Amino acid sequence: MLMQISEPGQTPEPHQRKLAVGIDLGTTNSLVATVRNGSAQTLADIDGNHLLPSVVYYGENARIDVGEQALTQASGDPRNTLLSVKRLMGRSYTDVAGEESVIKSPYELLDLGQDMVKVRTRAGDLSPVQVSSEILKSLGQRAEESLGGELTGVVITVPAYFDDAQRQATKDAAKIAGLNVLRLLNEPTAAAVAYGLDQQDEVAIAVFDLGGGTFDVSVLQLTKGVFEVLSTGGDSALGGDDFDHALAQWFVAENKIVSLDMFQQRNLLTAARQAKEALSSEAEVQIGLGDVSLTLSRHQFNDLVDPLIDKAIRACKRALRDAKLRNDDIHNVVMVGGSTRVPRVRERVAEWFGREPLVDLDPDKVVALGAALQADQLVGNRSGDEMLLLDVIPLSLGLETMGGLTEKVIHRNTTIPVAMAQEFTTFKDGQTGMTIHVVQGERELVEDCRSLARFELQGIPPMVAGAARIKVTFQVDADGLLRVRAREESTGSESRIEVKPAYGLSDTDIADMLQQSWASALDDKEARALREQQVEAEALLQALSAAMLKDGEAMLSESEQAELLAKMEALHHEREQGTAASIARHIEIVGKGSEVFAERRMDASINQALAGRRVDEI
Ligand code: ADP
Ligand code: MG
Repeated sequence: MLMQISEPGQTPEPHQRKLAVGIDLGTTNSLVATVRNGSAQTLADIDGNHLLPSVVYYGENARIDVGEQALTQASGDPRNTLLSVKRLMGRSYTDVAGEESVIKSPYELLDLGQDMVKVRTRAGDLSPVQVSSEILKSLGQRAEESLGGELTGVVITVPAYFDDAQRQATKDAAKIAGLNVLRLLNEPTAAAVAYGLDQQDEVAIAVFDLGGGTFDVSVLQLTKGVFEVLSTGGDSALGGDDFDHALAQWFVAENKIVSLDMFQQRNLLTAARQAKEALSSEAEVQIGLGDVSLTLSRHQFNDLVDPLIDKAIRACKRALRDAKLRNDDIHNVVMVGGSTRVPRVRERVAEWFGREPLVDLDPDKVVALGAALQADQLVGNRSGDEMLLLDVIPLSLGLETMGGLTEKVIHRNTTIPVAMAQEFTTFKDGQTGMTIHVVQGERELVEDCRSLARFELQGIPPMVAGAARIKVTFQVDADGLLRVRAREESTGSESRIEVKPAYGLSDTDIADMLQQSWASALDDKEARALREQQVEAEALLQALSAAMLKDGEAMLSESEQAELLAKMEALHHEREQGTAASIARHIEIVGKGSEVFAERRMDASINQALAGRRVDEI
């Protein structure tokens, strides 16, 4: 996403400070944070809780509870208590049907084919977008109450691996909640920002995020204020819950317990979780169920969870391999997620990466804190010389080529800053000028894309069609400013233009354009093939007409001329009215039909070249 940028040096007066927050919309818990007195801090609800459980309860009489209150309903009315809906965002039933956590979820999912899955509740069939919007609304209200004013904008974090549909779903949820999304930010990037790593020049960072049910590892590369996600990995079924289970199993085995009812199971898991969390700061704990109680040392606990940590380390290995880095290339390891409080996790991570991970910030809050810093910057509360994090361009940038086709030069999602060049050539013999038409969009036809700018390149030396080499360079700098330069290589004649592609294009425009591009991908392919054949036919007809005019009478008999002209006529007709395939067929017919003519012209030009020259000159 490209961001608009405030003028440097225009830091608003303190009383003009705009209210902006960062939101970590988590699978288990969500948070909201803001920058106050120069530092980022999370905001608590009236009871002093910072974490809002990501749970929505749809009760009787259209009552909706969010967070802790909703959680208390979980056991009583599981079908209407929606947990972990983040896993459903932007995904279809078939996308999620196989996932263990989804199979285990106690609410009913609706299979809507290609469309996003919905949840059946007493409040109707709800999209995960609507459910998430309740969580966002609640956080937005919390922020407005504690900051005492209306929010200008929010930054919402999403996992780095979220695809376009999942990101769009998140944005839609925010829109429904009445929030103005300044941008979505990758969770690992936010964590790195919270530690101020974006102020460094060039570093490789690993973000190790071990939450309740999921493990994500991301390898980031920071170059002059631009974060690039080099790789992501992890395990969507590995987290603190598994630690709890390991502990519970140990308890069952130690006590030779044969069976537990649902109620006991739940209690045991709760006890296991409490014991685990206590062990993060104590050397040993008591764990009990009914009148049975056992002592568990941290040492014993480490043995129980080591196999689980092994899994996480293996995922780190894979992520580094995908990023083509070695563990000693990593400058910083950022710890995120409640389960990184487990001392054994920290030890093992430090050992494997060969450096101490960053743990000073609360691992539950670090993502929200980074998002808050970014939000503050985006609304212009920070000084202009601080660099903005710009990551990728939202829509492809390209040029119009013959036949109204687009040729992409920089593809969508390319990290900026970036410069890319491509060579183009002339279409007609003797062509000395060229219009460069810069367009943005995913579609194949120029008319379906957005026109950004047009400019002329003059001074191309006259040459046969296709001989000139015109190098067109697209450069997008860190401010999102596009510069296009066209240069004819033999003479060096050059023209250039600056365009701002992000201007005036709202997110809905972007979404619409993307949606259209998917919907019409097939149409586009056919249209493109047709245009290509039309262009080729045109080029062939032009070249052949010129040759006929010059040498036709001299080199071809009358009947040969008539035959070739008839074939050209037919091609011309197909070019106007035929399909890609029929034009291609006629191009071949004309090509074959003009072979004799071409040979004779070739011979003639060789003879001409040789005429009057001595043999030893050749
Ligand atoms: P998620 O990213 O899935 O929303 P969190 O990052 O909030 O989850 O992490 C939740 C997990 O962290 C739970 O398994 C919880 O038991 C664990 N956790 C929280 N505090 C501690 C602690 N002090 N020691 C060990 N584990 C903890
Ligand atoms: Mg998390």
